[in-house]
Amino acid sequence: MNLSRKEMLRLIGTGAGAVALGSAATSPAAGSERGGPRDIVRDVVVIGGGAAGTYAAIRLRELGQSVVVVERDGRLGGHTQTYTDPASGSTLDIGVVVWHDQPLVRKWFERFDIPLRKASFGGGVTRYADYRTGREVQGYVPPNPGAALALYGEQLARFPYLEYGFDLPDPVPADLLLPFGDFVRRYGLDDVVPSVVQFGQGLGDLLRQPTLYVMKNFGSDILRNLQTGFLSTERRNNSELYQKALAELGDDVLLNSRVVSTERDGGRYASVRVDTPAGRRTIRAQKVLVTIPPLLGNLGGFDLDGLERQLFGQFRHSAYYTGILRDSGIPDDVSVRNIGLDTPYHVPQLPGVYVISPAGVPGLHNIKFGSPTALSDRAVQDEIRASMRRLRDAGTIPTARTDFATFASHTPFELTVPAAAVRAGFYRRLATLQGRNRTFYSGAAFHTHDSSLIWQFTETLLPRVVAS
Ligand SMILES: Cc1cc2nc3c(=O)[nH]c(=O)nc-3n(C[C@H](O)[C@H](O)[C@H](O)COP(=O)(O)OP(=O)(O)OC[C@H]3O[C@@H](n4cnc5c(N)ncnc54)[C@H](O)[C@@H]3O)c2cc1C
Repeated sequence: MNLSRKEMLRLIGTGAGAVALGSAATSPAAGSERGGPRDIVRDVVVIGGGAAGTYAAIRLRELGQSVVVVERDGRLGGHTQTYTDPASGSTLDIGVVVWHDQPLVRKWFERFDIPLRKASFGGGVTRYADYRTGREVQGYVPPNPGAALALYGEQLARFPYLEYGFDLPDPVPADLLLPFGDFVRRYGLDDVVPSVVQFGQGLGDLLRQPTLYVMKNFGSDILRNLQTGFLSTERRNNSELYQKALAELGDDVLLNSRVVSTERDGGRYASVRVDTPAGRRTIRAQKVLVTIPPLLGNLGGFDLDGLERQLFGQFRHSAYYTGILRDSGIPDDVSVRNIGLDTPYHVPQLPGVYVISPAGVPGLHNIKFGSPTALSDRAVQDEIRASMRRLRDAGTIPTARTDFATFASHTPFELTVPAAAVRAGFYRRLATLQGRNRTFYSGAAFHTHDSSLIWQFTETLLPRVVAS
């Protein structure tokens, strides 16, 4: 690895006010215990620097806490990902695209001086094809969701607590545990399904998921924003948020780093040993805020106790992939959306492509692909190539070139547990982990896959983190 001295200093946290012995600590406690030269002493160590972790780190500093973020990748942002087209210099958001129009979101972007605008969707021509055969589904027109959305909104109003975390009543209402397909049938919500599919990309087999997860993902604030308009960045570069946050956090972010071991019980500090590109460091922090997907395989090195292991071991996850196709042969103003010719509500068969849509730059198309379970990048790319060939052979598109300008796996994506586990109190027990073993949790697994709502959830959690 070729690093400049400045980069090196940032990674190991030896720039101004970074490491050790509380030199940068903003709270008296942080510097009150001495450590070795490779120790980093902070109030809070944040694991993961995506939507939840970045928000938490900045806000915790504002609340007077010293922090350090441990991030596996070489950047902050997680599922927020921006591709820069080398030919035009245009930036294209291929991960997170929109945010809710709400005060917290506006304030968050204003803080970094990033202008927002109302997001615009669509434009151009949408064609519908069954990607299993490649044939265009002639005459298909998606149902007008208006009346069904109103009915769906009435259903959502029965479960207001879904807007914040998984604070579910006991017993959990049986309707929330129904497979979503059954819920749709019971309440005559057929015409809402295509909208739910569009927003619920990445959720896996949507009609089989417990209704709980679908309603959390496609919730009341989404319905409100469908009417008032979502927000996106004026400069079409959502990663700017995370670049600016990284610049501000500076030495308090350890990129390309991973947790090797933790000791969270006993003593006055949690010890978190981390491998960084500049060697192993020990972080000693009063509190640990975990914002990464809490799967056992992703928590290697954590000293999980029995309850943590038992709960995290129950999570299953779906898979979601994105990319940009160059010169695919699909006209620049055409989207080809996958629907099932003979599937219930024409839900696309997964694993499969959700949609190939114009990226906003001539010759480039965005592609979204979903699967109920994880696949290798290779398998996904092969299936995309095969889909393109089927579309071409069926005459739906003129040619079938599959040159990936970029490709990314966003897997694991949605973390779920079976309905029976929810019924048996999984989320009640999960909530008891907040604050246990000096550890707090935020991120999609603790609310839903929605950056704005995750920021809101995190904001509400932070006073507890600070006070503990
Ligand atoms: C293609 C796509 C489009 C989306 N569109 C939207 C949208 O338009 N609007 C919206 O609000 N939401 C959207 N989402 C959902 C949104 O991105 C997520 O809800 C949000 O990013 C989740 O935040 P998080 O902090 O839980 O996880 P992430 O943002 O994924 O952050 C987790 C971070 O932890 C890091 N990490 C993981 N494991 C480890 C480890 N072991 N050690 C250290 N670091 C680790 C990851 O690298 C990552 O940076 C989209 C998601 C995808 C994939």
